[in-house]
Amino acid sequence: MDTVIHVPTPFQVGAVNSYLLGDTLIDAGPHTANALDILRKEVDFKSIKNILITHGHVDHHGIAFYLKKVSNCRVFVHKDDFLAVSDFEEKLLMNLEKYKEFLENAGIPREIILGFERFYTNYRRYGENCEAETLEDEFETVMGVLKVIHTPGHTPGSCCFLLGETLYSGDTLLSHISTNPSVHALFDERCGLKTFQRSLERIQGLPITEVLPGHGKKIEDHKKRIQEILEEHKKRREKVINCLKKDPQPLLMITKKVFGEVPISEIILALAECYDHLRVLEKEGVVTSSDSYFFSLP
Ligand SMILES: [Zn+2]
Ligand SMILES: [Zn+2]
Repeated sequence: MDTVIHVPTPFQVGAVNSYLLGDTLIDAGPHTANALDILRKEVDFKSIKNILITHGHVDHHGIAFYLKKVSNCRVFVHKDDFLAVSDFEEKLLMNLEKYKEFLENAGIPREIILGFERFYTNYRRYGENCEAETLEDEFETVMGVLKVIHTPGHTPGSCCFLLGETLYSGDTLLSHISTNPSVHALFDERCGLKTFQRSLERIQGLPITEVLPGHGKKIEDHKKRIQEILEEHKKRREKVINCLKKDPQPLLMITKKVFGEVPISEIILALAECYDHLRVLEKEGVVTSSDSYFFSLP
């Protein structure tokens, strides 16, 4: 049996689920005093030999560098998320520049961009660069061989781990919130709605009886949950199309109509998701754009 540790995070998403399989930890949590307290209570650090990171987001890997220091364990992540873990700070700042450029181009007022920048640079506090190795197709643990299933979308290197009929799904499949596949897609073609949907369809076909996600409760009926998510995507897509029924609209207006007013912490999520839908619709010939941020129905 694995042990689940609910590692607290300072983020909106709530605690991260870290799973202990003998001497191997799946995901670690962010680098905060609270996270460390909980991990220390639940895990004998000296006994950890490996940490597997489901994807390169700081709520999942931030404290790995510290655990590696105290336990001398090895840390593994998919090659496409490698830099997000090993070069955490630089990658974070590089991404910030790209987000800012996108927000400027989308016509977001300067003070909101500055607010976003302050919020985003804060992430630096929750992790440090961690020396890592890349995951292979399989990983041997004391509880059996884990199959590494590459499920890009949310990030380019997102992975799920299959042990028997149990799937450890990271943020790729969650029970209570919808995963955002669109933010990384702003500058990385290996992510986005379409890729993410393919990853979900791949999971749908796996012979699994339970899914243990990176946040929230376990999922008993993964096929049903995936169907729900795909339906949500469809509904959002219809909403985006409906915004354009009367007049052509800039991305910012479309986003406001679809999501209403959103807090600064979520502005990039909302804009990126609408933009992702619009680009898919454009490729399908459903929508046209006069410049990249102004859309209409043909
Ligand atoms: Zn994530
Ligand atoms: Zn997460």
